Amino acid sequence: MTPGPWLAELTTDELDGLLQRPPVVALIPVGSTEPHGPHLPLGTDTLLSEQVCLRAVEKLSLQNIPTLIAPPIGYGVTCYARGFRGALSLRAATLEALLGDLIAGLLDDGFAHVALVNNHLEPEHAAALRAAALAAAAARGEARVSFPDQLTRRWGRTLTEEFKRGDCHAGRYETSLVQAARPGMVRGVARELPALPISLATAIRQAQGAPVTFAGIGMDRAYTGAPAEATAQEGEESYERLATMVVTEILERLQPPSP
Ligand SMILES: [Zn+2]
Repeated sequence: MTPGPWLAELTTDELDGLLQRPPVVALIPVGSTEPHGPHLPLGTDTLLSEQVCLRAVEKLSLQNIPTLIAPPIGYGVTCYARGFRGALSLRAATLEALLGDLIAGLLDDGFAHVALVNNHLEPEHAAALRAAALAAAAARGEARVSFPDQLTRRWGRTLTEEFKRGDCHAGRYETSLVQAARPGMVRGVARELPALPISLATAIRQAQGAPVTFAGIGMDRAYTGAPAEATAQEGEESYERLATMVVTEILERLQPPSP
């Protein structure tokens, strides 16, 4: 039996055995601890990233690329949720340094490639991940690290209509993802929440760099979009797309097409 996919569940000897057969990929799930409406848990983003990782591991195993999931980073840069209980933010520099150390450590250990798998979409948070990935690519080579970013046009356009409108915090998109993986985590109140057409993406653009907060743009209960419309089926479809982003970027780097 091949050990894994959770790195933390392996012994050092089991990991050594696995790394004798390169290339082995490591995924780092990244999330946040922040409010997700009255109906989803504070750790929603981390849960989503772990689930995407599990699906990416399966897809990569079909390509004969053994993959392990590193212990998740359950904190991110969460300034928008300021004022709500349970918003525990890191400074961007802290997150970037933490990820830089972990990527370097995994590459030093013998992993061929490290991918950051993120589902907390605050721009300053994503920028810290991008900076950590770019620094690692500059130091160790482009093939060694990836960060498939839903905020880029390439990947954002593959996601749902609500996501693309930017009403994507604890709405139909995220609630469907939790529903698909951990239905018991979605509180019954989700079905009674009125749809809110508040686009975080538009609010961020209009603020032109000034601080944005959920409370300041009318997200009084820390959600936007339409949680009541969530379905497990939509969640499964979104997982498929999110895992495809991860696997595509890894394969593009590990197996570049021959010229
Ligand atoms: Zn979220």
